[in-house]
Amino acid sequence: MTRSLGGAELATSIRNDASVAAAALAEIGVRPKLAVVQATDDESTAWYVRSIASAAKRTGILCDIVDLGAAASTEQIRSTLVELGHDPDVHGIILQTPLPDGTDLDALREAINPAKDVDGANPVSLGRLVARLPAFAPATAQAVIALLDHHGISPHGRTAAVVGRSTVVGSPVAHLLVQRNATVTVCHRHTTDLAAGTRDADILVVAVGIPGLITADHVADGAVVIDVGTTATADGRLLGDVDAAAVDGRADALTPVPGGVGPVTTALLLNHTVDAAATQYAQTRSDSLLAGFRSSV
Ligand code: ADP
Repeated sequence: MTRSLGGAELATSIRNDASVAAAALAEIGVRPKLAVVQATDDESTAWYVRSIASAAKRTGILCDIVDLGAAASTEQIRSTLVELGHDPDVHGIILQTPLPDGTDLDALREAINPAKDVDGANPVSLGRLVARLPAFAPATAQAVIALLDHHGISPHGRTAAVVGRSTVVGSPVAHLLVQRNATVTVCHRHTTDLAAGTRDADILVVAVGIPGLITADHVADGAVVIDVGTTATADGRLLGDVDAAAVDGRADALTPVPGGVGPVTTALLLNHTVDAAATQYAQTRSDSLLAGFRSSV
């Protein structure tokens, strides 16, 4: 029988920590604020964004949903991101995908102020993560590691396989696992024999977006499987990349979809926003103290 590695308990504890920190900031006059920029008619995306906003409010974080509509141009989205980057009342910025067809996502990611990049989307954040410097990791990638930690599963000295190499999930997860001393194989759409890449892994992380891609053949006996995939169906269900029934009994543990990586990701976004608010407050204070010192000498 495969254990279910749920994320609800961990998400609650991360949100509780964030709400204690948000309350402490409120006492000194700082109200952490998150801005989520979206440009799509897709109902499941809109639902996800509303769920972030309501979790933020429950945590004591202000949240603005900036909806630019499905016809928004790259330039409109870019100038909105730049404006939010300069707004001293906004501490965290998320650019929600999908964006309209033809949008230059790379250019937009670069337009997110790295100090407010709570979902680690700017290449500066990814570069710093790879260089092992302080940065906001993409929340989904960090959620994978946080879930392993929470369930007492150490990557140290183990073999891991990551399926998917996107800059927001697969690649940062692979780096974080290496930083935790795992030996990591990365598989992607050009991997000719996927099962050969995954079936010896102690820890298997799947972030592809193809429901049921991973079956028993891909999974080692006793492996820990983290399913990051979330594909919404027309009837409102959320499907993971792992065929849970097929791997049941073979894997030692599997994250459920929904209820695994997802809630931890949302909680980490809030946690990052509170961190960003604290860091920006400290920066403003030290800037003004320094300015006062300079004008007095
Ligand atoms: P996400 O944002 O969830 O990471 P993307 O759509 O950006 O999703 O990336 C999907 C990733 O999945 C890509 O890295 C791609 O190479 C990988 N992928 C797609 N199809 C397959 C497949 N059949 N086998 C292995 N990897 C795949």
